[in-house]
Amino acid sequence: MIEVSHLTKRYGSHLALDDLSFTIPEGQIYGLLGPNGAGKSTTMNILTGCLAATSGQVRIDGVDIFEDPMAAKKHLGYLPELPPLYMDRTPEEYLRFVARAKGVGDVPGELERVMALTQITDVKDRLIRNLSKGYRQRVGIAQAILGDPDIIILDEPTVGLDPRQITEIRELIQKLGENKTVILSSHILSEVQAVCDSILILSRGKLVACDTPDNLERLLTGGTALELEADTQPERLEKILGNLPGVTGLTVGETADKHAWARLETGKENLENLSKAVFFRFCDEKLPLLRLTPAKASLEDIFLELTGGKEA
Ligand code: ADP
Ligand code: MG
Repeated sequence: MIEVSHLTKRYGSHLALDDLSFTIPEGQIYGLLGPNGAGKSTTMNILTGCLAATSGQVRIDGVDIFEDPMAAKKHLGYLPELPPLYMDRTPEEYLRFVARAKGVGDVPGELERVMALTQITDVKDRLIRNLSKGYRQRVGIAQAILGDPDIIILDEPTVGLDPRQITEIRELIQKLGENKTVILSSHILSEVQAVCDSILILSRGKLVACDTPDNLERLLTGGTALELEADTQPERLEKILGNLPGVTGLTVGETADKHAWARLETGKENLENLSKAVFFRFCDEKLPLLRLTPAKASLEDIFLELTGGKEA
């Protein structure tokens, strides 16, 4: 378990982390999400004892990272943003070096375990410089999980990878998350949405949300919308949908296959009644509805709203 309370970090006059407090329970996959510069790497560097905080407390399984870093770090495996790989070594040589530095007991057995888990056994004798970015990232993850720590922290583990490599790393993270606590950072929402049990959203050094992906989706704005499509022109659709009770916004347009679509904004409690009213309007007009669906605010919208859009 990780307990962070009132964590603050200043770089000179720049406030990079502003009073962060959160708890990460055991055995879950947590996503630390935020645009570039939000403070993700700073947070991870402090959690792992690589960087001192300006103020605040971090406890790893009950041990204060600043008071007893050696004991706290035994629980942690860390893949930093720039993995510390030695390009002129093979994965096996490099991992053996890391295993010794970490004081791992059975080095050969542990090397075999992590190389099998990260599926790098086939490339263990090649120079790291000759490996693809995807394989290098696996070597970086292998170094993080050497010694079998209970908490694995991965800073942007999929950045710069192609879609197939991203899927592979994602599967690996899910596998690790089956019996470990995993924290990964990303500036891409879909990334954390796909693998994480909970998401922490950071914006300009502040924690702006912490919840499950589903709850975050539900949390937004209170309002909601209906979307529909019909085989007619946008102008007629606009007329048909005029003056419906409870509608706070109406947008119409044309789809690629020359149908008209509309989006009706309304309050959450009104969605069912509005669906019925729309249905009867179309009955009156003898115009078949091709589609009528509630539109959920996407997590993308929430993320942009919470982090102040792209300007962050
Ligand atoms: P993220 O990983 O979310 O992109 P960082 O934690 O790297 O964000 O950075 C947070 C903020 O702190 C940014 O504004 C960045 O420019 C600043 N920053 C990071 N490291 C340093 C440093 N060593 N010295 C000064 N400013 C820094
Ligand atoms: Mg970063």
